[in-house]
Amino acid sequence: MPVALAVLLALAAPFSADDGEDVRILVARGDGTLELRGRGLERDGETARAVHPDRLSLSCRSGSLHGDGLPSALRGATFRADGKLELLGRSLRGEIELRCAKDRWTAINVLPIEEYLAAVLGGEMSPSFPRAALEAQAVAARTYAIERKMEARTQGRAWHLDSTALSQVYRGAGWEDPRTQEAARATRGEILAVGYFPVEAYFHASCGGRTETGAEALGREQPYLRSVSCPCGGHSPWSHWSVRVTPDELSRLARRLLGGSEVSGLSVVARSSTGRAKTLLVETSSGPRRIGASELRALLGYARLPSLWFDVRAERSAFVFEGRGAGHGAGLCQWGARAMALAGSGYREILAHYYPGTSIVRIY
Ligand SMILES: [Zn+2]
Repeated sequence: MPVALAVLLALAAPFSADDGEDVRILVARGDGTLELRGRGLERDGETARAVHPDRLSLSCRSGSLHGDGLPSALRGATFRADGKLELLGRSLRGEIELRCAKDRWTAINVLPIEEYLAAVLGGEMSPSFPRAALEAQAVAARTYAIERKMEARTQGRAWHLDSTALSQVYRGAGWEDPRTQEAARATRGEILAVGYFPVEAYFHASCGGRTETGAEALGREQPYLRSVSCPCGGHSPWSHWSVRVTPDELSRLARRLLGGSEVSGLSVVARSSTGRAKTLLVETSSGPRRIGASELRALLGYARLPSLWFDVRAERSAFVFEGRGAGHGAGLCQWGARAMALAGSGYREILAHYYPGTSIVRIY
């Protein structure tokens, strides 16, 4: 089936009036014993016949799910409770699906997208941000989830999103807040689209004054991920940052990339059109080497080197990175959305600014 048709059919599919769509979130993978808690646990629609009705110890062995009161040769099962479930310290709404592959389990949380969003918003943006910023974030996060859900369908993946910053940070119902719930409710079912295609609604903490193109930041060339000016400049804790890295630390980290050479110099030799570092020249004991700035950021850690918008200089005992912004810089800038909201913009205006050429479509 052509992708466009599949997309249109997916968007036109009937949605439940109450819950909207479900999303499937990969919450954990591992081996060993897993404890699941919840009041009056049910397994595949029946009361879980456990010794303790509110607690189950589960494990996977040779592809089968084992646990108190479970029939044998079960490859997986779906659990729900009267209220929230508890798994690995997280409080989760909806259902937990456990699947076994050999001795490893995969835990997928299946829940209505609107409930997922209220929790995601709490993990991705401070609930103290103004309402219009939270609403803009809600639409961006919903769009991202729907887009990944459609991608999972075409790729045959059992889950739509994971729960880390690689997708969207989801820590469960403990991160909901009345303000994030209200932002999800106020924008219910709304996504960003171009010609009924959900867009790739990337977002980040702070761009530093100008967003990056999708092509430069993520290798995603999209007309709506173009660079725009942003008022986050003086309003964000990321307006200016400074990070010191010793040559020893850099040598140690770069051992794999640079083949054990000592690092003695570092400079930016190519920048993107917005001024972000693209390529660095590393002076090493075995000669000069070039590395991608994003490689260096991955090496040092995304939190350690908050963005690629930096200058670097050598001091006596360290390389000093001075920069601005946090995150990849493409799409919605959260601190910019906050500044726009404080200046009186609504969420539609904010979204039109950061994703030019898109429109808001309500899908349920
Ligand atoms: Zn910004």
